[in-house]
Amino acid sequence: MERYDVVVVGAGLAGLACARDLWARGLRVSVLEAQDRVGGRMRTDRVDGCVVDRGFQVFNTAYPQVRRRLPLKELRLRPFTPGFLVHTGRRRLRFADPTRAPRQALRGMADGVAGPRDLAALAAVTGWDMLGPAALVRRARDTSTRRALSAAGFSEGFVERFFRPFLSGVFLEEDLATSGRFFHLVWRSMARGTICLPAGGVAAVPELLASGLPPGALALEAPVTALTDDGVVVDGGREMAARAVVVASSPAAAARLLPGLGLPPYRTVTTYYHLAPRSPLREPTLMTDVRRRFANSCVLTEVHPGHAPRGYALVATSVLGVDAAGRERTVREALAECYDADTAGWDLLTARTVAEALPAMEPGLPLSRRTRWAAGRYVCGDHRATGSVQGALASGARAAREVAADLTEA
Ligand SMILES: Cc1cc2nc3c(=O)[nH]c(=O)nc-3n(C[C@H](O)[C@H](O)[C@H](O)COP(=O)(O)OP(=O)(O)OC[C@H]3O[C@@H](n4cnc5c(N)ncnc54)[C@H](O)[C@@H]3O)c2cc1C
Repeated sequence: MERYDVVVVGAGLAGLACARDLWARGLRVSVLEAQDRVGGRMRTDRVDGCVVDRGFQVFNTAYPQVRRRLPLKELRLRPFTPGFLVHTGRRRLRFADPTRAPRQALRGMADGVAGPRDLAALAAVTGWDMLGPAALVRRARDTSTRRALSAAGFSEGFVERFFRPFLSGVFLEEDLATSGRFFHLVWRSMARGTICLPAGGVAAVPELLASGLPPGALALEAPVTALTDDGVVVDGGREMAARAVVVASSPAAAARLLPGLGLPPYRTVTTYYHLAPRSPLREPTLMTDVRRRFANSCVLTEVHPGHAPRGYALVATSVLGVDAAGRERTVREALAECYDADTAGWDLLTARTVAEALPAMEPGLPLSRRTRWAAGRYVCGDHRATGSVQGALASGARAAREVAADLTEA
């Protein structure tokens, strides 16, 4: 029987970060991944010459774990415009970050985007989140994002027009019920970093992490079906022995492998990818819709022209929930209005629904949870921290620390 110090189940961001940290500590690690590629929820497909992520997502360069682990140059990142557009039902308004583009933000006042009170609150919250110590945010008493925004001095109208549509695409819920503490951490990373996309799609991020594993440490198409007293069983009945097993699988698989594991509810999202004969917006900018017919939309080929064959524009539009009958038609009609374009001729390239896209982050939920589950058993992933790239990587790092400490003591 093969023997390792640690078997890591799952090669998403959490499993990869955990395995790399354990290996760096001199432990013999094997990573077993059920799919034919690494990355889990950060997966990219090629569809008819287009680069299509399994659910639109953005990559933030300010996450501490990202800065620590990834040579960003290798990802060939290209940025979105800071700020975003909101379609009000009548016209598109531009929301600019007052700390980066104060003139544009002030111009927004004249456009009726924000009054002096909202602009002052926006500058104060953005400045504080950007420059204040993260530890203070982490320790603050938690409440919903809606209450946190109201406490920060934003008017109800501004929250409805600006935060609610925008954050629905970030939290994948539209009631602003998500933890206010998490909101401040997300806002901090947006203010400090750049929202961008890798040239190869989001899968380039886990692929870069996996490239740092030692040869032979990763097995693909190797789903773990059960944990045993001294290791794991891989599909087909092969047993592997390990002093510790880290379950870094998707949430549903983690619940199967570790009965009794409490999981938060998960949010579902669907992204429609349309091919248009010309770009409906000549800038790499996210757009939201006050009427909430979609959570966000952007022209991906304005970020990376190579994401579609030459002469075509690739538009990604996400909606909360599943791809119900007639939904794509409603989205297409909304896009016609918001982009002020004839969308009747757009081709639906594909629709991607991710059922377990993000864990619900309710107020009061710890931002990082212990990974030790039982003797020799550990669990990590975004559901043990925050629903984000940062949360998944940090949870993997924490699992590696806890495993290494226990194995050293043993
Ligand atoms: C549509 C979408 C949009 C998002 N947008 C953003 C965003 O803009 N910014 C941000 O920071 N985050 C975003 N996220 C969240 C981020 O992608 C996730 O939090 C992160 O990728 C989760 O990583 P993970 O390692 O915890 O889990 P996963 O990625 O789910 O990895 C788990 C791995 O375990 C494998 N596995 C499952 N069962 C088994 C088994 N039995 N044996 C072996 N392997 C198994 C799976 O195949 C998978 O590879 C988004 C996610 C989605 C889906």
